[in-house]
Amino acid sequence: MKRAAWLLAGALPAAWGAYTWGSHLLTVASIWRGPTGRRAAALTFDDGPDPECTPRVLDILEREGVRGAFFLVGRRAEKAPGVARRIADAGHDLGNHTWSHTSLWRCGPADTEREIGDGHAAIAQAAGAAPRFFRPPWGKTNLAMFGAVRRLGTPCVFWTVQPESRRPVDPAEQARRGTARARAGAIYDLHDADGVPGAGTRLVAYLPALIAGLKREGYALVPLRELL
Ligand SMILES: [Zn+2]
Repeated sequence: MKRAAWLLAGALPAAWGAYTWGSHLLTVASIWRGPTGRRAAALTFDDGPDPECTPRVLDILEREGVRGAFFLVGRRAEKAPGVARRIADAGHDLGNHTWSHTSLWRCGPADTEREIGDGHAAIAQAAGAAPRFFRPPWGKTNLAMFGAVRRLGTPCVFWTVQPESRRPVDPAEQARRGTARARAGAIYDLHDADGVPGAGTRLVAYLPALIAGLKREGYALVPLRELL
């Protein structure tokens, strides 16, 4: 009995470890970058819709003639359906970023299905169009995630470049750093709402200069579906 308890105490963390961080081995088959044969990149935006910042980001993209991808949090889309619909109507791609932006490392299989399924349904309902892609919060995966996204037909998309620093940086410097890391087929991971506090406001401040920098370097900024 004592021995069985010890075995269980050892086996459970090992199984959970395989289910969570072990699942990251499978992300080699996920999307991290578009084809490298063309000087093009895609801007992707996580964590919205934010009722204040996302419309300002949409204004900037409209002015610059750029379409990107928005990975929305289901319960935020439910609270701001007008913004979600505006994203879809402007021709940006929609992505699912779960229902509540929880870490999948903390979700068993049933909770994982719920987070992904409910997020997908809420975004489709709010935006009037179903998400095409999925991205897990903080890029954290588990073994149940892969089946859930396959059933919904939404490939898991990570990123090539994450240019934002955790601490506030001067907008011109932030844009310069983002431009310097450009490469063919790059998927940029940006944030139009708070995960990190103030992320949306900071994006609004540096996004025009980032777009200008990337265009100056000869990059076509295309929707994710086109890049891939
Ligand atoms: Zn996120």
